[in-house]
Amino acid sequence: MTSQLAAPGLTTLDSATVSAKGARRWAHGHPWIYRSDVLTRPSAAAGAVTVHDERGRPLGCALWSPASEIALRLLDRNPHATLDEAWWRQRLAPAIARRASVATQANAYRLVHGEGDACPSLICDKYDRWLVVQLLSAGIDRYRSEIVSALSSLVEPLGVLARNDVPVRAKEGLPTTVELLAGDVPREVEVNEHGIRYLAAPWDGQKTGAFLDQRELRVAAGARAKGRALDCFSYHGSFALHLASRANHVIALDVSAEALRRAARNCALNGLSNVELVEANAFEFLKAKQRARERFDTIVLDPPAFAKTRASVSSAIRGYKEINLRAMRLLSRGGVLFTASCSFHLTMPLFLEMLRAAAADSARRLAFIELRGQPLDHPEILTIPETGYLKSAAIEALD
Ligand code: SAH
Repeated sequence: MTSQLAAPGLTTLDSATVSAKGARRWAHGHPWIYRSDVLTRPSAAAGAVTVHDERGRPLGCALWSPASEIALRLLDRNPHATLDEAWWRQRLAPAIARRASVATQANAYRLVHGEGDACPSLICDKYDRWLVVQLLSAGIDRYRSEIVSALSSLVEPLGVLARNDVPVRAKEGLPTTVELLAGDVPREVEVNEHGIRYLAAPWDGQKTGAFLDQRELRVAAGARAKGRALDCFSYHGSFALHLASRANHVIALDVSAEALRRAARNCALNGLSNVELVEANAFEFLKAKQRARERFDTIVLDPPAFAKTRASVSSAIRGYKEINLRAMRLLSRGGVLFTASCSFHLTMPLFLEMLRAAAADSARRLAFIELRGQPLDHPEILTIPETGYLKSAAIEALD
């Protein structure tokens, strides 16, 4: 039989049969079916397949990843969908349109947040006129040319870079590389984020070049910043830049000298002279400042994910609690702490529990000013917990 679904290179209609448990996951709004719930595996290499339940009823079409624990990712409930460039254009257009309000204030934001935008395992970030994509499964990798064509016709970028140098690709049996897919992409792109400018590094910066997911928290922190400010885990200074417009003095701290070098250039780009760059370990720095009984009016804690796996959650919580407790003690009266966690495994309830435990040890009276989940351009789908990882709180020291 000839396939309408065939990815490039696939000529036969391939099909998978899934267990009742697997079928239920789709019915309940989760696009993943695990390898153990696939009763009949497609014989083809990675690509798209039709999926049937145990009784032979077609459920839809999915991306197929033969080497992965996540074997199938639902793409379309229409089992006869033709996954050509036009299909991808139709799928991507509403995701892109949804970002319109973000685009009025910033020229860098996420256009496609994988499963959060019904494009499983596809990330696309926009940096001014350039796009950076990540193809995170063997199934989606087969559609790279259709996806690049669709994105090119919708966004008309000057270049598309694939930051496929991520470990998860190894689990899919894919190479980990950085590859130019279309046009040209500069080493650095100037981002404008609500009037603050910074340089993103698409080829070799963290993630796809910058941390786009904290844009709104940076703006919120900037709006409330005052006095003496401290930005721990600063990377290239993105929070510090926002804080510096209102605070008198800002310390931007990071362990990475390279990140701080870009932070220095970012300060110059904004004409800021009140940011002090400190290369240090945040744990040590906070401890020393606490011993010295110093006070800060604004503190930002935006650490890397301490809990990389479920098994590491309890030791991660100790780390989060330590820095948050020290930061709470360092706050001046009326001072505000902006604190975040990007660990998927540290859920919002665990994050709040950790903050309450730190507050209980701090001997301070602390009030929540606000809690945040993810910004509009990183949609977290209620039925897909894996689309959510970022949470943050703003906390004021009342006495
Ligand atoms: N706040 C940044 C993103 C931070 S990413 C932004 O909004 O752009 C986390 C940063 O923490 C990285 O730059 C990493 O170099 C730094 N880091 C990791 N461990 C650290 C430690 N123990 N002390 C200080 N910085 C650390």
